[in-house]
Amino acid sequence: MIIVLKPHATKRDADRILARIEALGLKTLHMPGAERTVLGAIGDERVIAQLRLESDPLVEGVKPILAPYKLVSRELHPHDTIVDVGGMPVGGDRFVVFAGPCAIESLEQTRETGRCVKSAGAHGMRGGAYKPRTSPYSFQGLGRKGLRIIQKVSGELGLPAVTEVVQVRDVQAVATHAAAFQIGARNMQNYGLLKAIGQSRTPAILKRGMAANADDLLMAAEYILSEGNPNVILCERGIKTFETATRNTLDLNVIPYLKQRSHLPVLVDPSHGTGVRDFVTPMAKAAAACGADGLLVEVHHDPSAALSDGFQSLTPDGFQTLMRELKPVVEAVGRTL
Ligand code: PEP
Ligand code: MN
Repeated sequence: MIIVLKPHATKRDADRILARIEALGLKTLHMPGAERTVLGAIGDERVIAQLRLESDPLVEGVKPILAPYKLVSRELHPHDTIVDVGGMPVGGDRFVVFAGPCAIESLEQTRETGRCVKSAGAHGMRGGAYKPRTSPYSFQGLGRKGLRIIQKVSGELGLPAVTEVVQVRDVQAVATHAAAFQIGARNMQNYGLLKAIGQSRTPAILKRGMAANADDLLMAAEYILSEGNPNVILCERGIKTFETATRNTLDLNVIPYLKQRSHLPVLVDPSHGTGVRDFVTPMAKAAAACGADGLLVEVHHDPSAALSDGFQSLTPDGFQTLMRELKPVVEAVGRTL
C-alpha cells in the first residue's frame, strides 16, 4: 500500500504510523518528499486493511501498489534510483560504460585490456572469474585466482570492477574483490542466489534471462530488494526469439518499459545481445538513444586469442570507435559520457 500523509504531518506522526504497520509484521518504507511524506507498507493487503489507515486524521490517502513487484516499482518510488558502483554513480546524468573481457584469463590479459578500455574512456571494467558455460568442456574461469586478478587491476587502474557470481558460497568472496556482482542470464531466477545477494549491500547487475519476460526480470529484482539490498541495476542482454541471424535478439523495447515501470537503472549488453562484433557499436548507440543508463561491453586486447566470446569482443580500436561514436548520441539525449 502507498500511504500519502497530509502536508502538515511530522516525522513523529510518520513514525507512529510506521510502528502500527510494523507491529503487524509488515515491511515499511519511509519516503519523505519536498511537499508530502509517502509511506509504503509491503505485505498482505488484507492485514494492512485492518489498520483502517484511511481514517487516520494525518493520512491523506491510501492506495494499493498495483504492480506485483512493490519495491522495484515506480508507483512507490517515483524518482530514479542512482546506484553507486565503487564511486561511479549509475542511473544519473552520466551514461556509464563497463568494458572488459568476457573472462579473466591472466593478469597480463586483464591488465592489457583494462588499460585499453580505460584510455578509451570506460568508467568501469568487467570480466568473469566464474564462467557459466553452455558446455562443461569450455573454459570455466579462473575462480578465486581470477577474483584476485580483477581486484588488482581494478585498483591499479582506478576502474570499479563488475564480476559474475554463480554460486551462493562465492557471494562473500566476490563482494570483497569487486565493486558489483553480475548475476548472469542463466541465474536470473536462481532464488537462493538472489536472496544471498539481497543480504549483501554490494550493488548487483541483474541480467535478464534469455527466456524471461520483462516482468520476470522485475520480480527477480524484487527478491534482492525484499531481502534488504536496494542497489540493483537491471541489464538487458538479448533474448531467444525465432530470429537466428544473431546469437540473441537485443530487446530494446524493454528499455523504456523497464524505465517506465521501475526506478532502477538499466544497462544494455550489446555484446551478448547481438553476438556479432560488428553490431555492438550500432546497438550501443541505439541503447543510449532509447534511454538506457549505460553499457556492459566485451573488449579483448586480442579477441582471436580469447578463451571465451572472442567473436563478439571488440578490439581496443573497435572500443575506441564505440566511445567516439557514442558521445554525440549520449549528448543528443541530454546526458554525458
Ligand atoms: C557474460 O557477461 O560474459 C555472460 C556470461 O553474460 P550472460 O549471463 O548475459 O550470458
Ligand atoms: Mn561473455
